[in-house]
Amino acid sequence: MPKYIIIAGGVMSGVGKGVTTASIGKILQEHGYKVTAIKIDPYLNYDAGTLRPTEHGEVWVTDDGGEIDQDLGTYERFLNMDIPKRNNLTTGQIYKTIIDRERQGEYLGQTVQFIPHIPDEIKRRIKEASNHFDFVLVEVGGTIGDYENIPFLFAAKSLEREIGKQNLSYVLVTYLPIPSHIEEMKTKPTQQAIRLLSESGIFPDFIICRAKKPLDVVRKKKIETYANIVSEHVISEPDIETVYQIPLDLEKEGFGEKILNEFGMKSKKKPNWQEWRNLVENIMNPDKTIKIAIVGKYIDIGDYNLADSYLSINQALVHAGASLSTGIEITWLDSKKFEQDRKSLNALKDYDGIIVPGGFGASGVEGKINSINFARISKMPYLGLCYGLQLAVIEFARNVCNLKDAHTTEVNPKTSAPVIDVQPSQKEILEKHMFGGTMRLGAYAAILKEKTKVLKLYEEVGRVKEDEKRISELEKDKSQYFRLGIIEKGKKIVLERHRHRYEVNPKFVDLLEKNGMVFSGYYNRADKTKLMEYIELPKLDFFCGTQAHPEFKSRLGNPSPLFYGFVRACGK
Ligand code: GLN
Repeated sequence: MPKYIIIAGGVMSGVGKGVTTASIGKILQEHGYKVTAIKIDPYLNYDAGTLRPTEHGEVWVTDDGGEIDQDLGTYERFLNMDIPKRNNLTTGQIYKTIIDRERQGEYLGQTVQFIPHIPDEIKRRIKEASNHFDFVLVEVGGTIGDYENIPFLFAAKSLEREIGKQNLSYVLVTYLPIPSHIEEMKTKPTQQAIRLLSESGIFPDFIICRAKKPLDVVRKKKIETYANIVSEHVISEPDIETVYQIPLDLEKEGFGEKILNEFGMKSKKKPNWQEWRNLVENIMNPDKTIKIAIVGKYIDIGDYNLADSYLSINQALVHAGASLSTGIEITWLDSKKFEQDRKSLNALKDYDGIIVPGGFGASGVEGKINSINFARISKMPYLGLCYGLQLAVIEFARNVCNLKDAHTTEVNPKTSAPVIDVQPSQKEILEKHMFGGTMRLGAYAAILKEKTKVLKLYEEVGRVKEDEKRISELEKDKSQYFRLGIIEKGKKIVLERHRHRYEVNPKFVDLLEKNGMVFSGYYNRADKTKLMEYIELPKLDFFCGTQAHPEFKSRLGNPSPLFYGFVRACGK
């Protein structure tokens, strides 16, 4: 039977529960165990696809097409594994399942009630995601004391009773503020979080204390007394330079052995942190640093803007930088700045490379296109992600193929040169306003053309080999088979994740190719239409784009090929 670790957060949100969960997972992996992680989101949305990215951070996309809270991304980045969408539970999903079942008559004659039906469904889903693993980490979203997460705490308690306390452990992640006017670290909010947790019958086995500084003996003692746990189980997790340092820091406190001990277990193998440590060292003290401009659309919330809306791109750059010992300085530039006057584009001269990330709608589009034009003309490394590929195709069509009116029908439905257009199946969805979970989502295969830069990079980083295995798994799973399309035997095939509705219009591919754009990879749809997945301009050192979001498959120690190539080109 798997062992469960329930992770809850006290005091406030945003204290790093996700990275703490991921770090615990990484530690247990290093000690030789098979680990997975589940994220519970106590909101009523069915999934994160319809949430506002500026409030909730970016939407994470899984291989199997889930649109999920970004914590799942943190787990994948630390654990270097693909985590399926069922590892994300929302209140909306739980209620919907139960109401659907009730309508189908599955509970005939019964009163369907909060207890036991809701916690039972939560437990069923947790168990379903736990198969074949030694450890299952369950992160309860929100903060202790929220009404919303009570059902999930209740379910955890009920799971504990069912499988026995020896198989389940609780970790409370809290925050200790240091108010600037007194310069003293305060334990009171943590004490209150402990008390609130106890109202659900839960007493933490470990308390991880996030704070600006390490915890001193006095504070440790206070928390230990208040929570009635041994002081070795009060763990300090002060602010650090990079989140990837957290597993190393927790191990310094012997966290791995302590938690294994709690379950009466021992390490299966001696942890070897050398490679991880080297990567962390490269992040903190790189040989050189490059400056990247990300030209996108940024919406502020009040006086703050949430850098989290592009978290994965950030991380993908960090991973590539860690493997190349290159520090990354990212500047977010609002594309609207580059809309009116071309002189404003001179600001881009200060950077070593430009990224246009994914996006939707008309806002700031001409500014993005102008920036891409600037990158192409001045031979600056360019990486286009999803919308960034589509807009690079538009730029090329307008300025090289002389199709002045070229556009995407997303922005100009009446354009005479719709070089980017919606797929027919998507047209219907849009007309019916079926927005939730209906984009082209998740992993799709791309057949890569020989002698292209894109293929070279995927081979160099080892992804072609790695994806061979994933493809043979997909071939066995009929429900996911469509992700492969028509496979051409003997060709190099890779998988990346997607989230889009629009495509390069096949009618314009010939013309674009004749003018020098290379489509380095495509997906072969069942009806034999080729959907373009990659572009490159072979004459330039690095000018690449992809219809996918390769940032979702980037991990520390296993960087995304395109980001790797881009960062290396920028460092030249
Ligand atoms: N808006 C574009 C589309 O739907 C691009 C989406 C994206 O960048 N994720 O196809």
